[in-house]
Parts: sequence; C-alpha cells; structure tokens
Amino acid sequence: MIKVGIVGYGTIGKRVADAVAMQKDMKLVGVTAHSYSFNTEVAKQKGYKIFAVDGDSDLKLNGIKPDGDINNLLEQADVIVDATPKKIGKENLGRYYKPKKIKAIFQGGEKHEVTGTSFVAQCNYNEAVNKDYARIVSCNTTGLCRTLHAVDKRYGITSVHATMIRRGADPWDIYHGPINAIVPVLEMPSHHGPDVQTVLHNIEIFTTALSVPSTLMHLHTLTVDLKKKASVDDVVELFKNSTRIRVVRNAEHLRSTAEIMEFARDIGRLRGDMPEICVWQEAIGITANAHNKLLYMQAVHQESDVVPENIDCIRAVTGFKDGDKSIEITNKSFGIR
Ligand code: NAD
Repeated sequence: MIKVGIVGYGTIGKRVADAVAMQKDMKLVGVTAHSYSFNTEVAKQKGYKIFAVDGDSDLKLNGIKPDGDINNLLEQADVIVDATPKKIGKENLGRYYKPKKIKAIFQGGEKHEVTGTSFVAQCNYNEAVNKDYARIVSCNTTGLCRTLHAVDKRYGITSVHATMIRRGADPWDIYHGPINAIVPVLEMPSHHGPDVQTVLHNIEIFTTALSVPSTLMHLHTLTVDLKKKASVDDVVELFKNSTRIRVVRNAEHLRSTAEIMEFARDIGRLRGDMPEICVWQEAIGITANAHNKLLYMQAVHQESDVVPENIDCIRAVTGFKDGDKSIEITNKSFGIR
C-alpha cells in the first residue's frame, strides 16, 4: 500500500484525495486544513484524517479536532500530493519535503524548474519513475499533451499553433469571476507552448490564450502541420482509440461545454467531473489540398483532467514501472477508458 498525504485540500486536492481513497494499492493518510471551511466539514464527514497547517485555532473554534499537524502527516506518508495555490508548493518543498526527505508531487501552478520532471501519464510516465519530486502540468497543458501525443505518434508533427479559450474562473470562485470581457493574454507565446515542451520535448508549438466569461471548461482550437497525410475518419478513429480522450458529437447534442458538463452529471460522474479531453467530431478538419494540415477543437474540464494524472504519478514516483498498467488501473477506478 502506498501511503499518500494531501497538502492543500481545495479544488484539485479534494478530488485527488477521493481518487486516492478509491485505489486498491493506496491508502489516504489524511489531508491538511489550512483554514476552516465547508471543505474541512466534508473531509470530516468522509472520515479523512485532518492535519492542521499554521495552527489549529480556527479549526477548534469551529468544532474540528485535528488529528495532528502537517509534520505528523509527513511522518506517516510515503508521498505527498501538494495541491496548494501556486508558489506555495515551491515554498513547501524547501520548508517540509526536502528536510523531511519525503517524495512530493506538485501541480501546474508551480514552474517546471521546481522539480525538473513534468508529467502526463500517457506521454512520459517513465520520466517520473522513482523520482523524488514531479509536477503534474496544468489542466490546459495536460489537454494539449494528450491529443498532440496521439497525433504525433500516428502522423508526426512539423508544428502546432493552438489557442486556449479559457474559463474566467472555477464555478465556486467568487473572487475571480465572472468577468464581463474577453481578456487576451498579452504574452507571445502564452506559457502553455513552452509548458507542453516540458513533456513533449520535440514538438514545435506556439500558443496564444484568452479568457472568457464562463466557468464551464476551457476550449482549445488547434492547427497541426503533419509529416504524413491524414483523413478526418482516420483522426476520429485515432482519438476514439486513445486513452483519456472522448470524441463527442453534434448528433448527441454535445455542442458546447455546458452540454458536456451536463452529460458528465447525467452519467453519474463524481462532482459532475469529465477527466477525459473531449474532441468534437464535427470540428475535426483536414485541409483539402495537401491533406497534411489538421484542425480540431477540444474541451478541457479544468477541475478534473489532472486528477488521474496525479494517481499515475504517485505510482511512478514510488517505483511502479508499468505506465500502461497504472493508466489501466486508474481509468477503471474512474470509470473512464
Ligand atoms: P484552491 O484554491 O482551490 O485550493 C488550494 C487549497 O490550498 C485551499 O484549500 C487552501 O486553503 C489551501 N492552502 C493555502 N495555503 C496553504 C498552505 N500554506 N498549506 C496548505 N494548504 C494551503 O486551488 P486549486 O485550484 O486546487 O489549485 C491548486 C494547484 O492546482 C495550483 O497549482 C493550480 O495552478 C493547479 N491547478 C488548478 C486547476 C483549476 O482549474 N482549479 C487545474 C489544474 C491545476
């Protein structure tokens, strides 16, 4: 049993905690509470052990008796998943994980340099095997890497241009949205392109990004120059047969990010999550003249696509060498293909 602790029990941390609890080869040691909130109450109801960070007065005031502090969590775990807000993971590495010599997995808010190993299971599982520290790339980078990896393996990629149309905030977030504007990222390329290269090292990619007034998923548009000719039917089959990618169709009335989120709720996904990257079948195109320019659109559920990646990365850093097997076990527990 791999003993896992979660530091930072918010949007990503609570999902990873539930996913760890579902794995037969893992034991959830507990989660941290930085301050009291409904998240802490839910963790308590689920029977998760709660470890205080930066004092427990706020917790005690609200009737939560913690099971210890973060140092006690570190003593009991083999590996920590750090899902704190960006830059705090890097601080925690120097403050806790390095001195305590404990393995740690960080999220996309941290820079690649914090660990030197960025991870998307189906692309580079082996790179994280037995590493002390690894980083799960952001939700957008995970989405780009999954589909581009499949395309590159089949056709070879000369170059990519991708635009990320990003949700303004997460649905629960009253601090950052909704915005009443379309906000371009005034940086060329946006950070996503270089981030993809931390996983798919040889892909030439240029990205642009903007934010819109929505909380329901990101949408990517991609233009990919291929080394070999392709057909739309072949690309549809490729995506249908690639793990953690779901082809969605106009005929199903899955025409928008809102309908995909409703669909995820209808099929009974925990929290209405959609960890697969959804590619619209009708939005896959190949240029008619040379048949070597591929265009497609995909939707990324920002709150959940990185969650199975965290589970596979836990196995990788603790020495489980078979990436395909890990993906299979994780997928089964999530009910995804
Ligand atoms: P969040 O704000 O929802 O949750 C962060 C949690 O960490 C909160 O519960 C907060 O109380 C806690 N926290 C704050 N300081 C802490 C500390 N010093 N020690 C312990 N806990 C502390 O954030 P999130 O959206 O889950 O993001 C976490 C990481 O995941 C970031 O790196 C982010 O970039 C990345 N990420 C977020 C999303 C997303 O869409 N939300 C998607 C992919 C990756």
